[in-house]
Amino acid sequence: MKPAPFVHHSPRTLDEAVAVLGDVGHDGKVLAGGQSLIPVLNMRLAQPAHLVDINRVAGLDTVTVTDTSVRVGAIVRHAQLEKHDGAYAVLPLLRQALRNVAHPAIRNRGTTVGSIAHADAAGEMPSIAVLTDAVIEAIGPRGRREIAAREFFEGPLQTLLEADEILEAVRFGRFAPGTRTAFLESARRHGDYALAGLGVAVDVEGDGPDAVVRGARAAYVSVTDIPVVLDLSEAVAGQRVSSASWDGVEELVQAGIAPEADIHASSDYRRALAVELTRRALTTAATTTEPATT
Ligand code: FAD
Repeated sequence: MKPAPFVHHSPRTLDEAVAVLGDVGHDGKVLAGGQSLIPVLNMRLAQPAHLVDINRVAGLDTVTVTDTSVRVGAIVRHAQLEKHDGAYAVLPLLRQALRNVAHPAIRNRGTTVGSIAHADAAGEMPSIAVLTDAVIEAIGPRGRREIAAREFFEGPLQTLLEADEILEAVRFGRFAPGTRTAFLESARRHGDYALAGLGVAVDVEGDGPDAVVRGARAAYVSVTDIPVVLDLSEAVAGQRVSSASWDGVEELVQAGIAPEADIHASSDYRRALAVELTRRALTTAATTTEPATT
């Protein structure tokens, strides 16, 4: 199918983009990588009269590593962030998760910030945003505002962003030094949206096989309506990384998720998958040879 007719705007500055979107409001949509929006338009699930294409807006294509965050501009492609060695060195969870987003061709065009704006419960990066306590930077006719990722997601495909606002960047927060991370998911085919998945951040004291877990947090994909962080610390604290059983996490995960059934999997299957993936992700993170956060 082809989309309904629309006017294509191609602003060169952020001020111009804000002004255009402010004028068209609810009749407009921001176009970033187009990997989610264009299929929606082609299927005529949405018929905006105006597209505000931000791909030529200056200054939105940078990744900036600071002492506290990795700031990702609105048109940074998934692949650009995935390959960014500076971001990997301080927050390896970004690359660990991005490897699971769709296929390389889609990661070459789709943007990480666009994925957070889209707020698909099956998307990886909204969960990473909440797990890292990210800050969402929005700009609109009323000026700039910052929103905590944990408050940003209201429901599947629903966020606190107003129709006339643009996400300028997302600042993914860095973990405390020594935090070990992993991302695992299960999909029917490589590159498909996950049946279930999660990112974990494990707080470890010491090095080598005698290192001891102090706490852990997880954020899930495809098993909660909106990304939420589960604190698994009470079930994992005190275990040695080399012999941890993670026996206690099942109860916490079962209580913290509410998977929906669909044509791909039953609710019970997703639930069981989430529990097993949690155990594996904890082991992967606790014993990882990838950089711990610095
Ligand atoms: P667009 O498609 O341009 O926009 C998506 C929505 O977000 C639109 O409503 C748009 O208005 C809004 N938006 C985008 N950027 C902004 C902004 N800066 N400010 C305000 N609003 C904005 N994603 C996954 O997470 N995991 C997957 O496994 C996965 N598999 C995929 C498989 C296929 C075959 C395809 C086609 C896509 C898949 N995706 C997957 C989606 C992909 O990650 C998209 O890139 C992402 O969801 C949206 O990013 P985008 O830049 O393409 O946004």
